Amino acid sequence: MTQFSRSPWQQLTPRTWVAVAEPDSVNIGLVAGDEGCLLIDCGSTPEQGRQLREAVAEVTDRPLVGVIVTHAHRDHWFGLAAFDDLRSWGHEGLAEARTDGAVLADAEALGVAPGDLRAPNQPLSLVVGIDLGNQWVEALHVGPGHSPHDVIVVVGAEQVVFAGDVVEGTPDSQGRPAPEYGPDSEAEPWSLAVDAVVTAMTTPDWRAVPGHGPVLDKEDVSWQRGLHAVVHGETHRLGREGIGPDEAAEAGHWPWDYDRVRPWVERVLPTLSRGRQLPIKPV
Ligand SMILES: [Zn+2]
Repeated sequence: MTQFSRSPWQQLTPRTWVAVAEPDSVNIGLVAGDEGCLLIDCGSTPEQGRQLREAVAEVTDRPLVGVIVTHAHRDHWFGLAAFDDLRSWGHEGLAEARTDGAVLADAEALGVAPGDLRAPNQPLSLVVGIDLGNQWVEALHVGPGHSPHDVIVVVGAEQVVFAGDVVEGTPDSQGRPAPEYGPDSEAEPWSLAVDAVVTAMTTPDWRAVPGHGPVLDKEDVSWQRGLHAVVHGETHRLGREGIGPDEAAEAGHWPWDYDRVRPWVERVLPTLSRGRQLPIKPV
């Protein structure tokens, strides 16, 4: 039986908070302005969404005006039906994602009816700005990366980026903040998506709230950006050398536990052409 719960809100800056929702240890964000407040992600079920909605009053008396969904994964998105009467933002692709086979399988596993999956009612293709009253919030589509629909949320006055799963903080076995590649992740665009997070963090004082795990600083995020490029380069090197998925764990130099990148490597490696050389022919 899946256990649902939520940690107390942790205050990050004067007007931002984070809570961790189970079963997937997802970071839920909250940002307040003078006139209203906004949730970033909404939990794994409509019931958990309702509980998160009620919990807002624990830390702010500003009315909740809406929710931003960072991407189409269950722990960030499936609670959205609890916010039907409010505005909700997220990438326009979430409408179509409701019929995706993997999404429907996740919904069934969590006991969420397909009819309770919601597309955001304020779909965005690139960027939207939201005025909460002396608190300007921007949501930007930076995917594909971790997933096709990745959106990050920039709160300039608080120097905080809510990065969804574009940045991940859960440590691997060596204690390194490490992402989790899924079937819809792509290594090279992912490093470019993290670039957008680094760019938004205009000084070292900024912090990034990852989708999972502890809050990270700009240096952490910059490292993660570079290491995605390593995963991409390493996978292509193995492809050129004709090394298959069975040998990739041992033959590759991976920046994180191999299990974190395995789904991508095993999907992409068989598609890479062997022996591609620089276009220089001996005479
Ligand atoms: Zn995700």
